[in-house]
Amino acid sequence: MSLNSIWSAVYTVKVILLIVVLCSSGCQSVTERELNHEEMDIDHWSYQGETSPEHWEAIENGADCGGKQQSPINIIDLNTVELELKSDLKMYYSSETHISRVMNNGHTVQFEFMRGDYILYDGDIYHLVQIHFHEHAEHLICGVVYPIEIHLVHINTSGKLTVLSILGMEGADSQIIELLEGFLPIAMGESKPIDVECDLNQMLPSDRTFYSYSGSLTTPPCTEGVNWVVFKNPIVLSLDEVQKLRSNMPINNYRYEQPLNGRVVHVNPA
Ligand SMILES: [Zn+2]
Repeated sequence: MSLNSIWSAVYTVKVILLIVVLCSSGCQSVTERELNHEEMDIDHWSYQGETSPEHWEAIENGADCGGKQQSPINIIDLNTVELELKSDLKMYYSSETHISRVMNNGHTVQFEFMRGDYILYDGDIYHLVQIHFHEHAEHLICGVVYPIEIHLVHINTSGKLTVLSILGMEGADSQIIELLEGFLPIAMGESKPIDVECDLNQMLPSDRTFYSYSGSLTTPPCTEGVNWVVFKNPIVLSLDEVQKLRSNMPINNYRYEQPLNGRVVHVNPA
């Protein structure tokens, strides 16, 4: 597939998602609005008080938040199944991807891409749409809670999502986090266009071993059928960088762990 046809596919996906809500029973696609976490209603869900995650199932009519295949989860190595073959995850992130916009949607800080990079996963192409942050992490590894989790959200032409999860631990500065934080602060409800190139390859851990399982969006409508790829090894960012992210997002913008309900988590060798 040529680069031009891939980019045209990205725009086709966006147009389709803007026009129609594709979900009917058995369908696992999401709308652009859901994907970009653009719900700004202050009486809607939140991470605090009576609209916090434990109430989402009750207050979000028609959402999947009470479903059996929800995210995040606590990944316990003892209970995972190791795959023998090398994984078919391939990331095609340009060294000069254009970031088009940063926004604070009241739930997280999110960066969007004009022409997304893409990944190949499970035999399909998924285009990068946006990345955003949670503090502290949503996925736990053997019960360990990392201070930051980064979600790289990708979508295919059918509206199915694959989210790459990168955990962050505190240590030395991260150049790419520093670059992104150069566009902060940004007030809640605001967005601003930006035009800068970045290399998302710098954000990936050097050891690409990852866990995979089928889960959901971690925010309402908690849509299921999401492919999760959680890298086992964290990246390093500084305490200052963690604190800057924290000060630009709602406090504790994470959902607590959800039951596995018999799902299998695979370990994919790097
Ligand atoms: Zn997220």
